[in-house]
Amino acid sequence: MNAPSNKTIVVLGGGFGGLEFCRSFRHPRARIILIDRQNHHLFQPLLYQVATAGLAMPDIAKPLRSILSGREHIQVLMKEVRAVNIEERRVDLDDCAIAYDHLVLALGAVNHYFGHPEWRHHAIGLNGASSPPSSSSVEGRPGWRWRARWPS
Ligand SMILES: Cc1cc2nc3c(=O)[nH]c(=O)nc-3n(C[C@H](O)[C@H](O)[C@H](O)COP(=O)(O)OP(=O)(O)OC[C@H]3O[C@@H](n4cnc5c(N)ncnc54)[C@H](O)[C@@H]3O)c2cc1C
Repeated sequence: MNAPSNKTIVVLGGGFGGLEFCRSFRHPRARIILIDRQNHHLFQPLLYQVATAGLAMPDIAKPLRSILSGREHIQVLMKEVRAVNIEERRVDLDDCAIAYDHLVLALGAVNHYFGHPEWRHHAIGLNGASSPPSSSSVEGRPGWRWRARWPS
């Protein structure tokens, strides 16, 4: 009788959802490939503190490989996910494609402006390491100026 084959689980996104799955799921025949465009997990709830200079970005970002170190069954890839082909069970990345048996989709969310992209200029998005405005760039925007000067 043939031994059951190993399964490849591809996890897209090393945010709260993807990381929690990687930490908690374990099966002797499962190999996990975690893919994120960034090499770090970002603790988004503290982005406000970075935007207002209360914390530095390294305080709220930790390398995914270091968080998951010691877990031999997990491989971390820093790649941009371009598409998912459900029929062929394949994820297309920048320069290659990866086949999966099971897929965990945890790519987060984007800001939504209710069909008014021009509102973006007035409502600063805050959901990624490259997006938080520095305290100097928020000068001149009333709401953010108030936050930036709130006494500690
Ligand atoms: C400013 C702020 C404050 C918040 N405060 C709280 C709070 O106090 N309490 C609370 O419960 N929640 C809070 N949240 C919400 C919480 O952070 C999110 O609900 C949570 O991060 C969502 O987890 P996720 O795994 O779905 O996505 P995320 O944590 O956003 O992770 C998605 C991951 O996917 C990666 N990714 C996305 N697209 C691609 C792609 N094409 N290719 C490769 N990688 C990709 C990203 O790099 C990211 O690492 C806050 C969010 C923000 C922005």
